[in-house]
Amino acid sequence: MQETREKNLEVRNLIGGIWEEGNGRATEPVYDPATGEVVAETPLSTAEDLDRAVEKAREAFPGWAATPVVERARVLFRFKMLLEEHFWELRDLVTLENGKDAKDAGGEVRRGIEVVEFACGMPTLMMGESGRDVARGVDNVSYRYPLGVVAAITPFNFPCMVPLWTLPVAIGAGNAYILKPSERTPLSAVLLGELLQEAGLPEGIFSIVNGAREAVDAILEHPGIEAVSFVGSKPVAEHVYRVGAAHGKRVQALAGAKNSMIVMPDVVMDKAVDNIVSSAYGNAGERCLAGSVLVAVGEIADPLVEALKEKARAMKVGPGKEEGSELTPVIRDSHRERVREYIHIGEKEGAEVVLDGREAPREEGFFMGATILDRVTGEMRVGREEIFGPVLSVVRVDTLDEAIEFTNGSPFGNACSIYTENGAAVRHWRENVEAGMLGVNVGVAAPMAFFPFNGIKDSFYGDLHATGKDGVRFFTENKVEVTRWFSEPGPNPAVQRPVESGG
Ligand code: NAD
Repeated sequence: MQETREKNLEVRNLIGGIWEEGNGRATEPVYDPATGEVVAETPLSTAEDLDRAVEKAREAFPGWAATPVVERARVLFRFKMLLEEHFWELRDLVTLENGKDAKDAGGEVRRGIEVVEFACGMPTLMMGESGRDVARGVDNVSYRYPLGVVAAITPFNFPCMVPLWTLPVAIGAGNAYILKPSERTPLSAVLLGELLQEAGLPEGIFSIVNGAREAVDAILEHPGIEAVSFVGSKPVAEHVYRVGAAHGKRVQALAGAKNSMIVMPDVVMDKAVDNIVSSAYGNAGERCLAGSVLVAVGEIADPLVEALKEKARAMKVGPGKEEGSELTPVIRDSHRERVREYIHIGEKEGAEVVLDGREAPREEGFFMGATILDRVTGEMRVGREEIFGPVLSVVRVDTLDEAIEFTNGSPFGNACSIYTENGAAVRHWRENVEAGMLGVNVGVAAPMAFFPFNGIKDSFYGDLHATGKDGVRFFTENKVEVTRWFSEPGPNPAVQRPVESGG
């Protein structure tokens, strides 16, 4: 592992191109989840800090919006090169602040860079549409424009990738963008800000306002902010959507999840088991695409649970920065308590604890073991609520239709996976299941940057999703122009091509 630069551990606000001192604001500690040590302090910004950031962003916006899209894209190309140069540093910051292992952290950075690559195509993505002769002598054209000042509020579990879901698209489209990172994982954002400055982004086009609830509410109520992109838990997503919309903003709010993995009797067992374990326990289960409920169809349940138990029990518990660690810590001690409480609840509700990870396997940090709760039903809280930890619930059913019925009983609709080699079963499942991201023998069905991140039901509030063309539409608005000319074209010498032009 390469050394992390000390200066990244200073969490400051970036306002109008200036990295600000804390100004005596209250702070919240940032922990290394692998050791439990405090590594930084997040300033808890106030409405006044946000006001200043919006003011600077509004001053900077017209110049950036008027910058030709090819020049804006060049800043993104430089940003992409700098992200590649600092790839390992970013990866290690993600591991430090979030706790996930180096492979997952590197994967997160890579997926974020892919959105930057997508946004480098902004000259094409910003194109409108045209129709000629829509009536006699009349043409119809649309043009895309940036919105103004926009904001993003992001969660702790992907401190680099989730900001990068929206930042390059919003900026490439010509907006001024304010980021409010998770107060629990604010470090990666600092490096992103430094690299954007180095890439030549004008001051005020990217700002960071750190903080928690007060900063979020200030964003939602601020009249100078046109659009808000939120990613986080369901209750906060709902709040952001309601309050943001009530203040006249365009809002996309990506929320929580409870994703089923349906396993059919014809599954390729060894490959599926590896995949399921990685989906359920990777990043300590703290992924919105984690497979958190295994729905076993028919006689596969007993051998499957047995194989999963063996595999999950054998996972190497350890810090993300240690080679070979498979089960990394959860984000905070309080979160570990919450996950433990869910396991107690499951037990009381009648689930069978076939693997119990409640006892901390290491003294330092916020580690817990892998848990499997068997014979869970849709009536149990552990079958329906998001636990967001290394806990896999197993539901046993007799048919694919029962598996789909269980899945559709969830209020969430983020993702669902199916494990089978039967194409007809896959088609039946796809046509009937209520989830926005589908995986066939893929446990974490993450769409590529050029597709929308597509939760439905209670996993998403809004109309346009993040990433892909949806993301471009979210951060732009159209003008649609209808044109006709009253006069006839007169003689025009310019259209007579000179002989020497050669062309
Ligand atoms: P969270 O909702 O606690 O926090 C998200 C953001 O909201 C943070 O920036 C935080 O400061 C702010 N916030 C928290 N409480 C608030 C309040 N009461 N009022 C105003 N703002 C508040 O989420 P988290 O714990 O950081 O992240 C985990 C959650 O995010 C999980 O539910 C996970 O499923 C979800 N998530 C969803 C997606 C998706 O694409 N659907 C992706 C990643 C994470």
